[in-house]
Amino acid sequence: MTAQTPSLRKSGSASLVKPSRAEAEAAIRTLIRWAGDDPDREGLKGTPERVAKAYEEFFAGYDADPVEILRRTFEETEGYDEMVVLRDIRLESHCEHHMVPILGKAHVAYLPDRRVVGISKLARIVEIYSRRLQIQEKLTSQIANSLNDVLHPKGVAVVIEAAHMCMTTRGVRKAGVTMVTSRMLGAFRDDPTTRREFLAMIGNTAHGSLSNM
Ligand SMILES: [Zn+2]
Repeated sequence: MTAQTPSLRKSGSASLVKPSRAEAEAAIRTLIRWAGDDPDREGLKGTPERVAKAYEEFFAGYDADPVEILRRTFEETEGYDEMVVLRDIRLESHCEHHMVPILGKAHVAYLPDRRVVGISKLARIVEIYSRRLQIQEKLTSQIANSLNDVLHPKGVAVVIEAAHMCMTTRGVRKAGVTMVTSRMLGAFRDDPTTRREFLAMIGNTAHGSLSNM
């Protein structure tokens, strides 16, 4: 358990020195000039400060430890050994290649083995990993692996459906395209019945839920 903790934190806790707020704001002023505008004109005066604040929210996941949160599990399951599914978790992340939003939904399921965790914790794990620079494949794996490593359930399944603004607003400009990624571990990988049950539970949300984004 202890040996696995560093790998879960690896992407989130780079031992880099954090620049000051003033340095971050100066960098945003540079980007405004790079875009072709004047950072000193009226409408843009407060922008570097606002962007720096927004970044604190967008990337708050670097300061949180998913393992710590999951360790506070509830053991008494009263023999409950059926699938736990949390579906349609709102997902807001940023792609690490263009630093623009990835917006979508996550569905998280696990098959408990004596230990269960509060559902708010599941949503929190999704949030922590989302609030970092990401690619969708890595995000999907990190959520599944952290649940698997800490809870030791009989299985974990994570499905993410998301639209990438770097694809819809620039480059190939493919509007309405969503990417679906999944990671299945344990019973969800090995037992087709378990996997089918999970996919059926999230299936009716897979279409339409992203169409109004
Ligand atoms: Zn991108």
